[in-house]
Amino acid sequence: MSIINNILGKFSKDIGIDLGTANTLVYEKGKGIVINEPSVVALNKNTGQILAIGNEAKRMVGKTPAHIVASRPLVDGVVSEFEITEQMLKYFFEKVHQEGFTLFPRPRVVIGIPSGVTEVEKRAVEDAAINAGARQAFLIEEPMAAAIGARLPIQSPSGCMVVDIGGGTTEVAVISLGGVVIFKSLRIAGDEMNEDIIQYARSEFNLVIGEKTAEEIKIAIGSAYPLHKPLETSMRGRDLVSGLPKEVKINNEQAQEALARSVRIIVNEIKIAIEETPPELVSDIMKRGIILAGGGALLRGLDKMISEKTRIPVSVADDSLTCVVRGCGIVLEDLESLKEVLMTTQYSKPPRMRFFKRTKIK
Ligand code: ADP
Ligand code: MG
Repeated sequence: MSIINNILGKFSKDIGIDLGTANTLVYEKGKGIVINEPSVVALNKNTGQILAIGNEAKRMVGKTPAHIVASRPLVDGVVSEFEITEQMLKYFFEKVHQEGFTLFPRPRVVIGIPSGVTEVEKRAVEDAAINAGARQAFLIEEPMAAAIGARLPIQSPSGCMVVDIGGGTTEVAVISLGGVVIFKSLRIAGDEMNEDIIQYARSEFNLVIGEKTAEEIKIAIGSAYPLHKPLETSMRGRDLVSGLPKEVKINNEQAQEALARSVRIIVNEIKIAIEETPPELVSDIMKRGIILAGGGALLRGLDKMISEKTRIPVSVADDSLTCVVRGCGIVLEDLESLKEVLMTTQYSKPPRMRFFKRTKIK
């Protein structure tokens, strides 16, 4: 069986996927990251028809007529809309396999999913991958993938802590001996930070701004800790009272104040995780430091803030937005020796065995 899989593997484009709430990234075996697009699907609400996926759909957010909605099927870090996720996966698979599945064997895929998912959600992701054309689907917990992507020694008996701050969720994990020992998931992350800025604009400036504007401001001047060099930007929206367009200036101190709430919640969750971690592993973590991954890790001064509050050194993983998919890629390139870090799933067996099993049930 494995010989057939090895031969098939030579021809099919095996891929690793980070199915994030904000961004979907695809790693192609032997090639590297080939797709990096928003996890957005534009739908016609009346007909259920999918109009656009990825970059194109993101451009439509907030600018579409009422019957067209931009859906983010993975908003809380898990699959909330199964069929849309399947379509999204299919779209990305086809983008990698432009030749189509008729000429090439179906790919094997390694997909990163949040640690906190239920069995039902796990199956939903696997089914979506198989229905979208995968030959075999392996699931890996995202914090594990992030740790591998950050080149942490996950198989050693010494503990390491990874905090992955994405769009919809923040995940805190302590990893040791190839397994996740402690895990916390929080629905406060990048999206909520955008929401903080929207609320701040409303309460401080009577200004109504959209999500896109809020995110731009967060990235331009947002911080979790006082900055050495002041930053300022202008914020455009609609005046709450007059209903007319208005532009105001906002600086980093104000942005920090706006973001403080989400930052505090994230810091607290990390502290709780540390409290629950066995002392031997805490001592390892103190030596190695906490590693931040995901787009939210790029918020200015977040590392400093977490370090100050936990008294543990903190560093941001190189290229933190791509950590998870690079981790999936490393696993894909070396499935044999990294098998133990994968989650056990219904489709991780070779396809022919699966076929027999399935027909037996029917
Ligand atoms: P997910 O894994 O959920 O798809 P990502 O790891 O791709 O999420 O991170 C996306 C989040 O990171 C978004 O909320 C985005 O606004 C945020 N982000 C990206 N760059 C920055 C930055 N420079 N500063 C602060 N937040 C950022
Ligand atoms: Mg992520």
